[in-house]
Amino acid sequence: MFKAILITKDDAGYKAALQTIDEAVLPAGDVTVRVEWSTLNYKDALAITGRSPVVRRFPMVPGIDFAGTVVESANAAWQAGDKVILNGWGVGETHCGGLAEVARVKGEWLLALPIAFTARQAMAIGTAGYTAMLCVLALEKHGIGPTKGEILVTGASGGVGSVAIALLARLGYTVVASTGRTAEADYLKALGASQVMDRSELSAPGKPIGKERWAGVIDTVGSHTLANACATTQYRGAVAACGLAGGMDFPASVAPFILRNVTLYGIDSVMAPLNVRQEAWQRLARDLDITKLEAITREISLSETIAVATELLEGKVRGRVVVDVKR
Ligand code: NDP
Repeated sequence: MFKAILITKDDAGYKAALQTIDEAVLPAGDVTVRVEWSTLNYKDALAITGRSPVVRRFPMVPGIDFAGTVVESANAAWQAGDKVILNGWGVGETHCGGLAEVARVKGEWLLALPIAFTARQAMAIGTAGYTAMLCVLALEKHGIGPTKGEILVTGASGGVGSVAIALLARLGYTVVASTGRTAEADYLKALGASQVMDRSELSAPGKPIGKERWAGVIDTVGSHTLANACATTQYRGAVAACGLAGGMDFPASVAPFILRNVTLYGIDSVMAPLNVRQEAWQRLARDLDITKLEAITREISLSETIAVATELLEGKVRGRVVVDVKR
């Protein structure tokens, strides 16, 4: 028996609660992991609150990320005692996830815990941080170096945004942070933003094309924000779109793409192949300032996750949330 957040859906409705459950509840998998740390991502908050149909099988343990130690393995790649992490693969959506003391998964979904990080630090990074790195890599591979101009990061005070700013600043980029919480300007500047702008400048319907400003963009917001970001990206610049915090729609015109040769990169972390994940984690180990990671991280217990999920969707959580599943 072990502790887990369990989501159920029945005649009584959709409910998430901290429960003590039996290992028999866990799905089939060839590796069993004692989870030590997990985290609360935007998608986990959607799952816990039922705000969006993230969970597609019930009962479900949410949690798209975990870090822990292998306790049992029928997979040749892993043995008891190995330190591992997991991000995505539908875990916490269709397969029981990391907001629990035990997880049973497919060995092919696991990565070795990078030696640069403790299990707690890896979860402070979590899917949000690994996605931020995927966005940075997309801009780099497009040829956007630090001298090309300003990089816009939207949803800046959130998990993806905070890690993206820390990474870009460490790599020498000039970062403009777009936020609805201008009171967080000091926090964003401490992470490395050179300028902070109010997100209202980007969130209203805009012109099909505007004055060229951004060499590159990391967008976590979607909707008009993404459309306006594309419309103000420099000739041959690029936009990495990974989020929908402001909406799933994309009310844009083709003008930036056909007149300015702007490239829009879609970023998905969930089903990213192993080599892409490995590259992102290696680069996180090299380029993420651990002091800044600590500054953006708030620690909570498993029992606090349900309340904090609501706060997160209300835009009240800054940076990243790491979950101690033993408490
Ligand atoms: P957070 O909740 O930590 O941050 C989201 C931020 O977006 C908020 O802090 C806020 O920033 C901003 N925001 C919230 N609501 C609105 C709104 N209505 N309009 C404009 N901005 C808003 O989430 P994450 O950083 O973890 O995730 C960000 C997005 O990226 C989510 O949509 C998530 O689903 C997505 N994502 C996608 C992944 C992928 O694989 N593609 C992986 C990980 C995340 P501020 O207060 O600074 O304005």
